[in-house]
Amino acid sequence: MNLFGMSEATKVQLLRRLASQGHAKEARAPGDKMLPLIDATRYEEIGLIKRTGSVLGIANPYFKVHEGIAGATTMIDGRRYLNFASYNYCGLNGDPRVSLAAKEAIDRYGVSTSASRLVAGERPLHRELEQEIAQVYEAEDCITMVSGHATNVTVIGHLLGEGDVVLHDALAHNSVVQGAILSGARRIAFPHNDIDALNRLLTQTRPRAKRALVVVEGHYSMDGDVPDLAKLLEVVRRHNAHLMVDEAHSLGVLGRTGRGVFEHCGVAPREVDLWMGTLSKTLSSCGGYIAGSTALIDYLRFTAPGFVYSVGMPSPITAAALTALRLMRAEPERVATLQANAALFLAEARAAGLDTGASIGAAIVPVILGSSIRAVRVADLLSQRGVNVQPVIYPAVPERAARLRYFISSLHTPEQIREAVRLTADAVQQVEAAKISLVDVALALRAGSYDAD
Ligand code: PMP
Repeated sequence: MNLFGMSEATKVQLLRRLASQGHAKEARAPGDKMLPLIDATRYEEIGLIKRTGSVLGIANPYFKVHEGIAGATTMIDGRRYLNFASYNYCGLNGDPRVSLAAKEAIDRYGVSTSASRLVAGERPLHRELEQEIAQVYEAEDCITMVSGHATNVTVIGHLLGEGDVVLHDALAHNSVVQGAILSGARRIAFPHNDIDALNRLLTQTRPRAKRALVVVEGHYSMDGDVPDLAKLLEVVRRHNAHLMVDEAHSLGVLGRTGRGVFEHCGVAPREVDLWMGTLSKTLSSCGGYIAGSTALIDYLRFTAPGFVYSVGMPSPITAAALTALRLMRAEPERVATLQANAALFLAEARAAGLDTGASIGAAIVPVILGSSIRAVRVADLLSQRGVNVQPVIYPAVPERAARLRYFISSLHTPEQIREAVRLTADAVQQVEAAKISLVDVALALRAGSYDAD
């Protein structure tokens, strides 16, 4: 809906302008000494979001404290919620076997690995995990690091350099973008999943670049859609470029046995130069990995700054990921249940008239609401009714793409999914029926007539 005949972007600008009048001081960090280090405009934006929430009587949807294992349900502030805001895709976080493996590793090795594996040594678990991840991709080797985000940053930032070009999908994760920036290579974002556009950009840029790296995600975390891997490979090869695929949301999710986008697309995994993934989603742990050729992994093991100069993964974290991976492989019914659950969610949501964008219904389903305020209001109403789902709002997505994002788990029951969709459709209708005036919100912000937290 285009309220007051204004575009969404104009509305946001107006709200921001009106709201910031008379509140500039409040929005600043306490203590002027901090100011040179923070971006005052972005900091003001955070203050504005908090104050807008107060005006609308909406509880802060961020930094919720979960008081137990976040599975199909979760306990927040003493209340049990249906949970759609965790990446527990195969239900392995909290699985007693995963937890036990972590505890046993602590008893045997302690928690910390102390320093870089290069100098302080490793534990048997490190190489076991890396070899089993390499097997997933039929790759020669694999390296793991303490953070998924840092893996992308350090690997892309280190392998590429001046004179090279990095072309990444416009919706690729922030860690890919940060890595590309760090590398000093030319960075180009190609339109989401538009392989023809990528082809054109490679035609233009490849001749003058020393090397070209194309980076995509196997399953997009914001929209739940996938690239056409076979077509992508064909274009990448035509231009003598390298391909890196971030499988953070694909492992345990895509393909008949959860091996990821290559299994989903029927492509040989060896065709891809760098497989990247995280240990924090299906593998119920923490960290990142790269799987690829012996030379590539060996090179990273001796030269990637985020590996050479950073601590090795703690043993319990490594043991948890290894056990979760083995369970994912041994119990493929988890993957099948997840896929059936997500397909059910997508079908029910569509039948209820909700806008699920391009989601293929594999584990991630957005419900696009078209305005940040609508998204936070619907999420808040759902929270009041016992459903925990995260709103994703401007500037994380364009204002017209503001949404709720549902992460489905193999632990959800069909009843829980139907209930969540029904409650969502009701909440959307209720929020639609009780429209709020943005001008009133802006005036309340300006007058300061709200409860600050
Ligand atoms: N890549 C993608 C596609 C992601 O979604 C994320 C985080 N959700 C990361 C990398 C970073 O992983 P981590 O949170 O495990 O550091």
